[in-house]
Amino acid sequence: MFKINENYLKLPGSYLFSTIAKKVNAYQNANPDKEIIRLGIGDVTLPLSPVVIDTLHSAVDEMAHKETFKGYAPDLGYEFLRNAIADFDYKRRGADINADEIFVSDGAKSDSGNIGDIFSVDNKIAVCDPVYPVYVDTNAMAGRTGDYLPDLGKWSNVIYMPCTAETNFAPDLPKETPDIIYLCFPNNPTGSTITKSELQRWVDYANKVGAVIIYDAAYEAYITEEDVPHTIYECEGARTCAIELRSFSKNAGFTGTRLGFTVIPKDLKSGDVMLHSLWARRHGTKFNGAPYIIQKAGAAIYTEEGQKQTKEQIAYYMNNAKTILTGLKEAGYTVSGGVNAPYIWLKTPDKMTSWEFFDYLLENANVVGTPGSGFGPSGEGYFRLTAFGSYENTVRALDRIKAL
Ligand code: PLP
Repeated sequence: MFKINENYLKLPGSYLFSTIAKKVNAYQNANPDKEIIRLGIGDVTLPLSPVVIDTLHSAVDEMAHKETFKGYAPDLGYEFLRNAIADFDYKRRGADINADEIFVSDGAKSDSGNIGDIFSVDNKIAVCDPVYPVYVDTNAMAGRTGDYLPDLGKWSNVIYMPCTAETNFAPDLPKETPDIIYLCFPNNPTGSTITKSELQRWVDYANKVGAVIIYDAAYEAYITEEDVPHTIYECEGARTCAIELRSFSKNAGFTGTRLGFTVIPKDLKSGDVMLHSLWARRHGTKFNGAPYIIQKAGAAIYTEEGQKQTKEQIAYYMNNAKTILTGLKEAGYTVSGGVNAPYIWLKTPDKMTSWEFFDYLLENANVVGTPGSGFGPSGEGYFRLTAFGSYENTVRALDRIKAL
């Protein structure tokens, strides 16, 4: 008789965004004349940039000819893409990362979930609270998080690092020593960042206690402030303690096209064993590569034209972020984020819970956002709006919120 992975049964409720979709659908069905503006889910809305589209077309044409047809991609990804990443994202930022330390994938969500494969189930994880829910949920599926405690909204075997207004939405070093530390900056959902010297403290700490940092830099392209690091490898000593996750989703609009990468420096070891070798083995065994045409399109964003067009897209979203940030401040809300990230984090008014404010905003302004409590217990009493809508809808949503 087969047995299931019972860890899945411990997972609470349904995924945050399906709950939101159900509520929005129910409201829309009951109020078909209302026009709902969605500033909830973190998906991009601008089309792929012209240089990406042109490259996709020509890569598709290559697939039509025997001489240029491509089958399985190399395990780590095509060299033309890994070289461009190593040069633009690392070497030009003074970070010592080589092309053969980069593993191209179909996105940061799969990598952030799959990376747990190379770690023992005995490791204790530490996570920012609130944060992107995938880190905790995938560790729960692997059996690393203990039991879910519904009253606390927490897992019994996870170290939560509260990121609250008191800590400027950044985590303090944990009192209990973790084995694996998940950091995500710029942060989803709070939009907060930490400075290079603050990140250096984490790197020094991880090296001291023998922990590994899994650094999710999916929103690095949105950084506007000078002293905010774009990659953890800007910090000294990160090569011996950090794995970095990156995505093409938010910097180049690849959410539906799928492309990302993970960096594992060869100096990152457990005893004599390089984590790089374990991930190479895992990648080669369980993954057959991101499509050639998508890798070609990804490489196109590193060209001069690609850089220009990508920056224009990010500037468009960041203008929305500014509109939300200033609009909410004018309406008297307490807000943060939105400066180095496409996310604005607001304190719910009148002590409403996150879900109460969700319903209030949906019913009274017909605007959809994301309840902060869906990202961790410290997100309770907060709410996330995203800058990924159209400018026109962003302005209209803010007008409605101001009129409440
Ligand atoms: N990491 C963070 C912090 C995210 O917010 C997201 C998506 O919202 C991802 C990773 C997923 O990225 P990808 O589209 O590359 O899977």
